[in-house]
Amino acid sequence: MAASVQQKHDCDDNVEISFENVKKGKSLITKKNFNEGDVLFEERPLVSSQFLWNEFYKYEACEYCLCSLETAENQRRRLTENPALTLPHPECDVTDPSTNVKCPQCQVTYCCPECQKRAWEEYHQTLCMGSSRQDENHPLYKLQEMWRNIHFPPESCSIMLIAKMIALVKQSKNKSAVLEKFSGFVKTTENEDEALVHKMMGEKFQEPLEMLRQQMTETMYDDTIQHWFTPEGFCSLFALVGRNGQGIGSSSISAWVKNCEELALSDEKKEELDLFIDQLYEELEKVSGSFLDCEGSGLYSLQSTCNHSCLPNAEITFPYNNNVMAVVAKEKIPSGQEICISYLSECDLSRSRHSRQNILKENYLFTCDCPKCLSEADEPDVTSDEEDEEEMDEDN
Ligand SMILES: [Zn+2]
Ligand SMILES: [Zn+2]
Ligand SMILES: [Zn+2]
Repeated sequence: MAASVQQKHDCDDNVEISFENVKKGKSLITKKNFNEGDVLFEERPLVSSQFLWNEFYKYEACEYCLCSLETAENQRRRLTENPALTLPHPECDVTDPSTNVKCPQCQVTYCCPECQKRAWEEYHQTLCMGSSRQDENHPLYKLQEMWRNIHFPPESCSIMLIAKMIALVKQSKNKSAVLEKFSGFVKTTENEDEALVHKMMGEKFQEPLEMLRQQMTETMYDDTIQHWFTPEGFCSLFALVGRNGQGIGSSSISAWVKNCEELALSDEKKEELDLFIDQLYEELEKVSGSFLDCEGSGLYSLQSTCNHSCLPNAEITFPYNNNVMAVVAKEKIPSGQEICISYLSECDLSRSRHSRQNILKENYLFTCDCPKCLSEADEPDVTSDEEDEEEMDEDN
């Protein structure tokens, strides 16, 4: 599977980046006709990283591809805190613990030797903590501990994503090529950088940001990217990750459910299994709330060129239970048309124009002028009910 994805990444036949829309900057355009459900392109992230609290709480993911390593049955047992439970249809489980390998030095786990090899070649030589993984005095441990104390769940970013970006440059034989890839992401001005970091780290972000910068410099400093270690440079590195980082989730249970849905069963058996799955999710939620998945984030070059629309014609999916993204057409898209995704969650997307625009302005620093927003331009500037409630919660 890994090899075929790598080839599909080379998707020059499907889509191209356009610079013609001056106001939007980059946009991604189709080069052929697509039908609803077609994969427009697949992409691996340049870097990705599991969130630190997620890892801390034993959501076991491959260090490289973020696939969930637990069997679906073990995941059910852990998340319900009931070791006696089993799962039917083990043939629907996608995990294969027999291929898992550990880094011989630091013992972090990979789903397969290929992932371990890639991680080592790309960044892990620099970031491997050897036998000191739990040593509180190790500079990387300190960095992670610092981050965990600033950024609590629900998490949206990891300091390790930035550490991996630095390690990627450090280890690369062609540093300028790597730097060019990073420079392709959406850039923001100095003022916008601060606004984004404020959003990510809270109001009093200056001091923790400076602490992180000093710790990162001590741990990872490299001459070729010295501009990343200055106060402004470090702040804009955070802003880059905040503006372009894409959330990634993987779950053995979700993958198991997906495969169960494709089983050829009698109507009666199907109904029985559907009922079981509904109950399974209820039972998971009761004990673990909404924290069901391995969670992390990553930087995707091509996807970052997709602009937002409140009426998107494409959507992001993670079809392989790992960090490989597939962008799928939600409707027929003719050749030469812009591909738009939604930067908002399903729930936020259903809010009023005013609410949607507020969220986009705050998180992505632009005012949406998509067809839906334009058609609603005459509506009064009211926030939808849900947001009113949230604002009231914040005030209290
Ligand atoms: Zn992997
Ligand atoms: Zn290691
Ligand atoms: Zn809009």
